[in-house]
Amino acid sequence: MADVSEKLVSERRARLAAERLLELKSRELFAANRKLSEHALSLSREVVMHRRSAETAVHEAEELRGEYNRVQSDLKKATYSLNLAEHRLWLALETVQDGFAIYDADWKLVIANSAYMAVFDGLEEIGPGVHYRDILRIGLEEGVFDPGEEAAAEWIESMQARWRPNTIEPRVIRLWNDHYIRLVDRRGMDGGVVSLALNITETIRNEERLSVARRKAEGANRAKSAFLANMSHELRTPMNGVVGMAELLSESPLNEEQRLYAETIRSSGEALLLIINDVLDYSKLEAEKLQLHPEPFDLERLVHEVAVVLSPSASKKGISLGVDYDLFMPAMLEGDRGRMRQILTNLAGNAVKFTEEGHVLIRVTGAETTPGRQQVHIAVEDTGIGIPDGMLDHIFGEFNQVEDDRNRKFEGTGLGLAITRQLVRAMGGDIWVTSTAGEGSCFTITVELPVADDEALAKPDLPGVKTVLIVESDPLTRQILERQLSVLGFEVAAVQSPTDIPEGPADLIFADAGAMTAPSFSSHKLGAKALVLLASSSKTPPEQDGFVTTLSKPILRQDLFAALESIATALQKPALVREESTEPRTWTVLAAEDNRTNQLVFSKMVKDLPLDLTFVSNGREAVEAYKTLRPDIVFMDISMPEMDGKEATRRIRAFETENGLPRAPVIALTAHAMSGDETDILAAGLDRYLTKPLKKAAIHEAIEEFTPGFLISTQEMQPASGTDG
Ligand code: ADP
Repeated sequence: MADVSEKLVSERRARLAAERLLELKSRELFAANRKLSEHALSLSREVVMHRRSAETAVHEAEELRGEYNRVQSDLKKATYSLNLAEHRLWLALETVQDGFAIYDADWKLVIANSAYMAVFDGLEEIGPGVHYRDILRIGLEEGVFDPGEEAAAEWIESMQARWRPNTIEPRVIRLWNDHYIRLVDRRGMDGGVVSLALNITETIRNEERLSVARRKAEGANRAKSAFLANMSHELRTPMNGVVGMAELLSESPLNEEQRLYAETIRSSGEALLLIINDVLDYSKLEAEKLQLHPEPFDLERLVHEVAVVLSPSASKKGISLGVDYDLFMPAMLEGDRGRMRQILTNLAGNAVKFTEEGHVLIRVTGAETTPGRQQVHIAVEDTGIGIPDGMLDHIFGEFNQVEDDRNRKFEGTGLGLAITRQLVRAMGGDIWVTSTAGEGSCFTITVELPVADDEALAKPDLPGVKTVLIVESDPLTRQILERQLSVLGFEVAAVQSPTDIPEGPADLIFADAGAMTAPSFSSHKLGAKALVLLASSSKTPPEQDGFVTTLSKPILRQDLFAALESIATALQKPALVREESTEPRTWTVLAAEDNRTNQLVFSKMVKDLPLDLTFVSNGREAVEAYKTLRPDIVFMDISMPEMDGKEATRRIRAFETENGLPRAPVIALTAHAMSGDETDILAAGLDRYLTKPLKKAAIHEAIEEFTPGFLISTQEMQPASGTDG
């Protein structure tokens, strides 16, 4: 029994062991199964992915194939278009008449159109691959190119030299058949050259024809001008006769009506002469017959003379006329004095003509260009009607005038500026205008002239003179003088009237006649070492105590220096400064008159006056007598034999300036007063003029005017100081 149970136990144990083993194995089997299925899962995932990539790759390959086909077709089209364009371009280049060629960077011909090749007329050596130098050489040897004056080697070299810079200048060459080719070459990007050969033969022929025609036309124009010049010249002589005779006629006994007729003939004749002179000048300039005659001349004096001649018309209109000549510019220059005068008269005359109020100023400045030469600028400035913008060029043309309402009332030929411009250009100069309509104009000329004498004006040394007072009512004179005296180193105060004078004494006073006689001025006068009277040429110096010298307006630079010089002399000799003249004295009078009867008349008219009267009978004697007599007043006949009155006065003035003497009054005696005569006389340095037949009252009046206190003290009508307050 025990065996059985033992057997049963062992069997159970065995069974249990078997069951455990079975369980173990089945667990292992399960794990293996799970792994297997996981693996299978990942495999199948991979398969899916690979399949997808394969599908994409196939798709992309298809797309690429499409693209490739499209590119292929585009390329075909592009090649076709390119060929077509090249073909068309070449066809075009073949069709044009001008030559066209391309050279490579080594200057070898790449390609050329038929027009280019045609020039070489089938020369076999010339074709693609040939060097530019050889093309030139062969062309020359075969006579295709005509090098003109140049030697063959030089020509080839110059043609090649032209090609070396990056930018190639165009050049015209000549062919054997007298055709002209203009070569226009351009450097290409690869360093080669594109060459265009234009046939310009027709243009050149036209230019030649034009220039022949122009020469002919100019010749005809010159002939016309020469004819006009001759005609005007011929017209002038009889016209002078007409004017002269009309003048004589009006001096003969006539009734009122006849005198009016004679006067009208004379003035119309003179107006006509002016026009004829303009036309004559203009045609001479046009015919290139006008010659300049350079000579040494005093530009400052010339400007001054022009101003003096115009000052009566200026003062009649109430406008002031000034000259501002650069203080340190030489006055003696070399040029055509007469033509310079004409230029200035035209410009300044216009300025006065077209100005109703304000001023006309002639300003002269200069700068040395090379030693001995001055660039002279002369500006004529006015405050007149001005010139509209669009007319600034127009007015320099012949017979051109500004035509508007403001302008129509002015007379003139419209030739003045045309002549002026031609004259300035003939002198190698230039002229221009700036202007504002309604405000004024400024005409400027500039011309380079040799200096004839550059002796600078010496600044006089005035001991103890530091402060200067200017009392002058004319703003232009005041301004110019103020500037000049400041430049000379003085402390300057400038005022318009005695009431504006600042506090404190002045060493030197410049004052106009109005100020000098004003009662409020007398206290200022006392403090000054010297007084200078600024006189307008027609006015006279009033009675003064203290040393007085006179400057006539417009003031000549030379006169200013002379006045300062005479002040300097006077200051060194104090006795002269305060010359007391209370004693009645005899006045020395010099009279120059060649006609015996007139001498007699004159002496009769002044016989009541306490005069020491000396007669001379020509200008030369007058100058001599002046130097020895030093008269208080001079009466000067204008037309006298040997030397006329104007020249004699000029010499007297020069003598006074040289010797620092005060200016003696010189009164002209003229037979007749022609228009313009007065200014001419005053320009020569005379102070006043009396017309013949002489009248006693006029002579007495003149003596009284110029020798202050004379009649008053001799006739004992009033105390001498009466005029001053
Ligand atoms: P004219 O004075 O004889 O008419 P010009 O040739 O001298 O001839 O001048 C031409 C024109 O130029 C004048 O008519 C005038 O219209 C204009 N002009 C010249 N100068 C001046 C000036 N200073 N101010 C205004 N207009 C001027």
